[in-house]
Amino acid sequence: MIQFHNVCMSYQRDSAALNDITLKVPKGDFVFVTGPSGAGKSTLLKLVYAAVMPNRGQILIDGQNIARLTRSQIPLLRRSVGVVFQDFKLLPNRTVFENVAITLEVLGWGKKDIGKKVYHVLKLMGLEHKIAATPLRLSGGEQQRVALARALVNDPKILLADEPTGNLDDENKEQILSIFKEANIRGTTVLVATHDRRVIENSHKRVVVLNRGQLVEDSNVAQ
Ligand code: ADP
Ligand code: ADP
Repeated sequence: MIQFHNVCMSYQRDSAALNDITLKVPKGDFVFVTGPSGAGKSTLLKLVYAAVMPNRGQILIDGQNIARLTRSQIPLLRRSVGVVFQDFKLLPNRTVFENVAITLEVLGWGKKDIGKKVYHVLKLMGLEHKIAATPLRLSGGEQQRVALARALVNDPKILLADEPTGNLDDENKEQILSIFKEANIRGTTVLVATHDRRVIENSHKRVVVLNRGQLVEDSNVAQ
């Protein structure tokens, strides 16, 4: 589903955020990307949703070479990729319903279908009673579940999460992780960047370790 071949990415000359990364993530995999701050975790995720482009190497997402995408094809790629962040990035002046509905409005879904699907997903997240609330009235865990609902409402092929549990307590972390696992069981390929060791150790999933832009360990690859 995701293939990196000798990928290099630099924001500035003479300093590589990622250096010669080769990585294959098959469809249906669940991978934690970890490593110290500045290791390149966010950059790796940004490359998958084409927020930044590689300076060298090749990236294939679901068989598509992202370097060959035209400007108008990038939104098409992003439709199959759901993204969540540590700070949720919800629209503060919109309701929970509206925050999730946006994903489907952009895709041109009809009003009635949007209503049904958004309600269904919010119910799965245990948020049906918050549908009319605005994000600032919700707890951190609830806000992250809204962000997850927004990312998952169109059943993306890939779910990317950048430090998704960074601002949450243990109970909320568990809840968020179980949502990732359910999405994964339903077939979504999941990539989670985190430096939370406990989250990683308790999950028994594949772990890819970055350090200063290099891939230094992959639990899937024999040492
Ligand atoms: P991580 O997510 O592991 O903390 P990042 O991918 O955010 O690492 O950063 C990797 C490196 O790239 C760091 O040295 C960081 O300072 C640098 N970097 C990240 N984003 C930018 C940017 N927008 N402009 C310049 N340098 C950046
Ligand atoms: P993370 O560790 O999750 O990557 P950061 O605090 O490193 O978060 O980065 C927050 C934002 O600042 C990101 O959008 C990143 O691209 C940007 N950024 C990080 N490092 C730099 C840098 N050296 N120069 C400019 N922007 C940066």
